[in-house]
Amino acid sequence: MEANRIYNFNPGPATLPLPVLKEAQAEFLNFRGSGESILEISHRAKEYAAMQDEAKADIKKLMGLGDDYEVLFMTGGASTQFALLPLNFASKEHPGAYVLSGSFAEKAYKEAEHLDIGVIAASSKDGGYKHIPQQDELKIPENAAYVHLCYNNTIYGTEYHYIPDTKGVPLFADMSSDMLSRPIDFSKFDFIYAGVQKNLGPAGVTLVVAKKSFLEKSPEELPTMFKYATFLKKDSLYNTPPAFNIYMVGKVAHWILEQGGLPEMAKRNKKKADLLYGVIDASNGYYRGHAEPASRSFMNVTFRLPSEELEKKFVAEALAEGLGGVKGHRSVGGMRASIYNAMTYEGVEKLADFMQKFQKANA
Ligand SMILES: *Cc1c(COP(=O)(O)O)cnc(C)c1O
Repeated sequence: MEANRIYNFNPGPATLPLPVLKEAQAEFLNFRGSGESILEISHRAKEYAAMQDEAKADIKKLMGLGDDYEVLFMTGGASTQFALLPLNFASKEHPGAYVLSGSFAEKAYKEAEHLDIGVIAASSKDGGYKHIPQQDELKIPENAAYVHLCYNNTIYGTEYHYIPDTKGVPLFADMSSDMLSRPIDFSKFDFIYAGVQKNLGPAGVTLVVAKKSFLEKSPEELPTMFKYATFLKKDSLYNTPPAFNIYMVGKVAHWILEQGGLPEMAKRNKKKADLLYGVIDASNGYYRGHAEPASRSFMNVTFRLPSEELEKKFVAEALAEGLGGVKGHRSVGGMRASIYNAMTYEGVEKLADFMQKFQKANA
C-alpha cells in the first residue's frame, strides 16, 4: 500500500490501479513525445489517434469481439444512454423491454416509459431487489426492439450469473459496474455500455461496445449528437472527446491485458468476494447480506449490521483503519464494499479482518 493512500471501497468514482495512476503521472507533461500534456493535445493529432485506436483494440481483444462490433466513446454517463437507447431503437410498434433489477434498471426503463415506448419484461422490486430475475420470470414481447438488463446492480449488490435467452430479441446491457471484470460471451449482446467511473477509469466518458449493424440504425430526424450513427461514422470524433478520460480507460484496459485478461480478473474478483461473503455467512447473523446468495455480486458486497448506530460506528472506525467508502447507498442502508478490478486482495483482507474484530468488540 502506498503511503498516504486509503483502501478505497467507494462505488464510483472508485479506486484505479496504482501502476496506471503512476504511469499517467510520469507522462503528464509530455504525452508520447508530443511535448504537450494529454490535457492540451489536439484530438486531431496523430499521437491522439494512435492512443484511441490502441484503446479500442485492447477493449475488443479483452472482450473477444471482432469487426462486427464497434467501440464508441461518448459523454453524459450511463444516464444519458438510458435516454438515447429508446430514442434510437424503440418505437410504439417495437418497444424496449426492460428487466427491473434495481435503481439504475428502473431509471433506464423510465426514459422509455416517458416516451411511451417501454414495457417491463420482469421485476424483482417486490422483496427489495434482492435477486436477479431468472429466465422463467422473463416475459419478452415478440415485437420488442430489445431487452435491456442492468448486469450488475451497484446499489443492491446483485449481479447476473447467466445470459438470458431472449428468443432472438436483441440483448442490451448496462455493464457500468462490472464491465471487464470477468469473461462473458459478449457476442450474445448487441449493445453494451458503461459509465467508466466504476471499474474502468475516471468519470467523464461512457464506453459503448455494440454491433455496427445496430449503431447504423439511428433515425435520421434525431439531433446529430443523439445519434449513435454519428459516433460510428466519425470514430467518436464528431466533436471534441474527453481525451484524458479515454487515455485513462486505454491504460486500464492495457493493465488488464498485462495482468492476464478477464480470466485473471475473474479469479481475483471471485477470491475477494468469497472472502467477504465468507465473513458475512460465518457471522451468525451479525452481518446480514442484502443479496440472495445466488444473485450475489462479485463487485459490490452489500450488508447490514444489527443497528444503524453500529453501522455509523463501523463506517467511522473503518476509515480510521484506512478503509474508506464502505457506507451503503441510502436506498438500501448499511454497508457496501465495492471491490472492483483495481481493489487489491490485501485491501479486502484488511476489511475482512476489520469486520471480524468489529463483531467481536460490538456483539
Ligand atoms: C453508476 C451507474 C449508472 C449511472 O452512471 P452515470 O455515469 O453516473 O450516469 C448507471 N448504471 C449503473 C449500473 C451504475 O452503476
